[in-house]
Amino acid sequence: MYGFIHISLHVVVPIALAWFLFRDDWLKAALIMLAANLVDLDHLFVEATSEPVQCAINTYPLHTMFPISFFGALLFLPWKPVRMLGVGLVAHMLIDAAGCGL
Ligand SMILES: [Zn+2]
Repeated sequence: MYGFIHISLHVVVPIALAWFLFRDDWLKAALIMLAANLVDLDHLFVEATSEPVQCAINTYPLHTMFPISFFGALLFLPWKPVRMLGVGLVAHMLIDAAGCGL
């Protein structure tokens, strides 16, 4: 059940953010933010464990503080598609952090 809610959030939250933050261009924003979920491909580089890891933060290479601070910096760049990607990545990390008991 946790996995289902988590995956749903990774789909619903980017679409909602696209609608509220980039309404004039929301479809493009939604697609870019959904693509931000591809950061989870870093899980492939970590040895698969039998138990699914609930807390991705600091477990996978792109879910550590250094890349996350870089994702946050994207929010302040002057190119709209890059900001869309930044919003998607930061939202992704916040959703993942919810699995860490934050
Ligand atoms: Zn993740």
